[in-house]
Amino acid sequence: MIKMHREKSNRMLIHEAGLRRLVPSHHQYPLIEQEYGKMKYGYKGEEALDYYLTFLPHENYHILHGLRIKDPKGRYFQIDTLLITSTHCLIIDCKYVSGKLEFDEVGCQLIRHKADGEMERMADPLSQVARHRYQLSLWLEHHGFPSLPIASLVALTHSKSHLLKTSPSLMKKVTFLTNLPNRINEINALHSSAVLNKKDFNKLTKTLIKKHTPDSFNFLQNYNIKQEELIKGVICKNCGFNMMKKKRKYWTCKRCNSQSLSAHLYALEDYKLLISTTIQNKELRDFLLISSASEAYNILVSLSLPSIGDKKGRIYSLEHFRISFSP
Ligand SMILES: [Zn+2]
Repeated sequence: MIKMHREKSNRMLIHEAGLRRLVPSHHQYPLIEQEYGKMKYGYKGEEALDYYLTFLPHENYHILHGLRIKDPKGRYFQIDTLLITSTHCLIIDCKYVSGKLEFDEVGCQLIRHKADGEMERMADPLSQVARHRYQLSLWLEHHGFPSLPIASLVALTHSKSHLLKTSPSLMKKVTFLTNLPNRINEINALHSSAVLNKKDFNKLTKTLIKKHTPDSFNFLQNYNIKQEELIKGVICKNCGFNMMKKKRKYWTCKRCNSQSLSAHLYALEDYKLLISTTIQNKELRDFLLISSASEAYNILVSLSLPSIGDKKGRIYSLEHFRISFSP
């Protein structure tokens, strides 16, 4: 049973918003596009896993995608996919990398051999899952759960990945996606006695979800971009033009004539992702290019956002406001 669905990370949503709100000629645009490309690639690899997980007897499993928690020493770690059963749990790390791959277990590297003879060295996923196993065991102990055995697997999710120098011991730690259900069943067979009763099993999943903390990323600071450099206005989802104007009830695009009741909400989400999780009436008008304070007030009130302060200086919280621009 999927208890936590796969979602784009905050960092990924922020990069998407950044690319919408910067002109392509901005000097940081290529770098942001490149970083976003990496995230999108990784996300695609994680999504590829989902099909193979449908082969599992779902009633026995709780599946958590993208869980990010803090170990007792305050170090955050994010697990691509975590399977929990009453007998053990299994960390699955996805690697969406094509080409000829070699796990250098001594040097702790993943090496990709390119067609031109060049070698690309990447961080070793085996060391990463080993670290995550350790951190999860600390977390379980810290939260008073029985010491549940923790297994891990690195899943090669790209259909065009090929492993060089395999060994039986390596293939216990690494699997191709097509073989994932078999590997999960083999790991199950190694764990026959229940460590968690039904109550603790449910409590563990609930606590992990409660402790999940999405990653944060300060876009402007990280890319050294000033707020004034961002494109303002309400962007048309249909054609990308950023000058939608409100005509009676509808936001209307001057370029493609499409109409929307909610286009301003996506602009507000961009504001939250890129600028701040709080907003004032004046800031809303400035970012959405609205001239009327009462119209801005109506937007803020219609969203029932938590707020503090008096009428003019009232600060609204966007912390729990969420709407997704992209499908
Ligand atoms: Zn348009």
